[in-house]
Amino acid sequence: DSSSGSSGFFSKRTFPGRVPAGIGRKSLRIVVTGGAGFVGSHLVDKLISRGDEVIVIDNFFTGRKENLVHLFGNPRFELIRHDVVEPILLEVDQIYHLACPASPVHYKYNPTNVMGTLNMLGLAKRVGVRFLLTSTSEVYGDPLEHPQKETYWGNVNPIGERSCYDEGKRTAETLTMDYHRGADVEVRIARIFNTYGPRMCLDDGRVVSNFVAQVIRKQPMTVYGDGKQTRSFQYVSDLVDGLVALMEGEHVGPFNLGNPGEFTMLELAEVVKETIDSSATIEFKPNTADDPHKRKPDISKAKELLNWEPRISLREGLPLMVNDFRNRILNGDEGKGL
Ligand code: NAD
Ligand code: UDP
Ligand code: UDP
Repeated sequence: DSSSGSSGFFSKRTFPGRVPAGIGRKSLRIVVTGGAGFVGSHLVDKLISRGDEVIVIDNFFTGRKENLVHLFGNPRFELIRHDVVEPILLEVDQIYHLACPASPVHYKYNPTNVMGTLNMLGLAKRVGVRFLLTSTSEVYGDPLEHPQKETYWGNVNPIGERSCYDEGKRTAETLTMDYHRGADVEVRIARIFNTYGPRMCLDDGRVVSNFVAQVIRKQPMTVYGDGKQTRSFQYVSDLVDGLVALMEGEHVGPFNLGNPGEFTMLELAEVVKETIDSSATIEFKPNTADDPHKRKPDISKAKELLNWEPRISLREGLPLMVNDFRNRILNGDEGKGL
């Protein structure tokens, strides 16, 4: 009973043929842009498993059909190949906007953060529904405040190599707040800190996926710079719980969603070594420009207002992604779209 592609004004409680999602709650029809990606596909699993209908919009830039193949044939699931830079008409109840070329090797290639976010806000405005933006800790740039609170405005180089992503997400936050204030769109903003888990892209250059894949392939782990820069790594199921709590809650945000456990890259390499192969080695490589020296979320706001905090430590979470990576590497699947 899909209404994809239809136009016209819509009242959000009047879909025909809607099935109950559980006792006392009607199922919702939820759009997840970027739902074929790493975080998006885990979010889709959670929404489907609680009884909602999900429409994924994805152009497979970095996402993969394999991440969703277990849902093909499920009548509550639809997948649309579409670039969010182009407008789209849908009738839905909620929008999770994740679509974005999200890693340093990909994100300079297109204007998704600005045009894609504008279109999804236009959609949210037209159908009168809640919109959640997945922003990033990168809005804090190379932070001069540590740990980072949501009130910190950031230290971003506007003309650097990373700025397409950082400034793109900052603009996306601006657009989101403008639609909230100017057009009364209900919005939610998550600032996501480094996240890892099964289904992460194998080839996008992030540190956790690089180290895990390198050790499985018996290659040295590539530590950039002196390896003393820090990051805080969050397991994907914690993030998905936080995104849903934010969408369902009463607060606009922005909210930091991340795990406050802080590690240097050398410490991360040690944990990967302990987890996968005690004979693993490291090799030092030159660092990239504008690499933030340290990053760690202050999550007191999410704890207090969303009653959310991460539950899975790095040592607990890393082993949970190793089998997935091993299988994909053995099968020669390097993470390319279909
Ligand atoms: P990902 O690359 O696995 O997923 C992004 C998805 O968006 C992919 O499926 C890709 O094909 C799709 N996409 C990209 N451009 C598109 C376009 N123009 N139209 C339609 N689809 C498009 O990345 P991810 O790690 O799952 O990230 C999801 C979101 O979370 C992104 O917005 C990212 O900025 C944000 N985020 C992630 C992290 C992290 O550590 N994973 C950290 C901060 C923020
Ligand atoms: N848009 C969309 N789907 C919709 C409604 C709007 O893709 O259901 C796009 C629309 O094409 C425009 C953007 O969202 O490019 C912003 O829409 P809005 O109505 O806010 O702006 P306007 O069209 O008035 O400039
Ligand atoms: N990094 C590294 N080796 C790699 C990939 C990344 O040492 O093979 C470092 C990188 O310089 C950065 C940190 O790991 O300091 C996190 O990089 P990532 O791209 O995963 O995330 P972001 O920089 O966006 O936080």
